[in-house]
Amino acid sequence: MTQQQNSALSQPNQKKVRLYGQLDSAQAYEIRDFLNRSVVEFDWIALGGDDDCNRELGLPSLSNIRLPVVELPDGTQLFAPTIREIAQHLGWVTQPKFKEYDVSIYGAGPAGLSAAVYAASEGLRTVLVERHAVGGQAGTSSLIENYMGFPEGCDSLLSESR
Ligand SMILES: Cc1cc2nc3c(=O)[nH]c(=O)nc-3n(C[C@H](O)[C@H](O)[C@H](O)COP(=O)(O)OP(=O)(O)OC[C@H]3O[C@@H](n4cnc5c(N)ncnc54)[C@H](O)[C@@H]3O)c2cc1C
Repeated sequence: MTQQQNSALSQPNQKKVRLYGQLDSAQAYEIRDFLNRSVVEFDWIALGGDDDCNRELGLPSLSNIRLPVVELPDGTQLFAPTIREIAQHLGWVTQPKFKEYDVSIYGAGPAGLSAAVYAASEGLRTVLVERHAVGGQAGTSSLIENYMGFPEGCDSLLSESR
């Protein structure tokens, strides 16, 4: 078993998301990518065999469970969840507040985020729809070197945007 801590927006003493899965799992990779891009702090626990499964999850055998498992800070365990299910449990899948909007923006990358902030600051009813992870491509970069207003570079574009 290997355990890796993924840094993002660290809150001292706050319970983190835990992700359990096998090292070569494509689904676990996809979830790690989503959590990283969404700036969710989480622990990644790679399960090597039944002993790890028993110790970490209290379940007897890897073959009897649907991996990967996402454990939320409140203790809820999601077995082989989709990205949408994870987003839903994190409270990110919401319904529009109003029936109609002045501006609808699809895509919450840097362009969409900037447009939404400026539209809303002009008093327009603005909705921003993202299909995967807020931050867009910029969420995959550890350092944006030429973001406006950050002459030294910006390693947390998403948190700055929030
Ligand atoms: C590893 C990496 C490092 C980079 N480093 C730098 C750098 O140092 N400096 C720099 O200037 N640029 C850098 N870039 C490029 C920069 O990130 C992009 O130019 C920038 O993100 C483009 O912003 P955007 O909002 O136009 O599009 P994107 O960031 O691509 O965002 C588009 C968003 O729209 C969403 N979307 C698409 N279709 C839909 C739909 N139908 N409905 C809802 N949502 C949808 C996508 O999921 C995505 O989140 C880097 C890119 C990468 C990948």
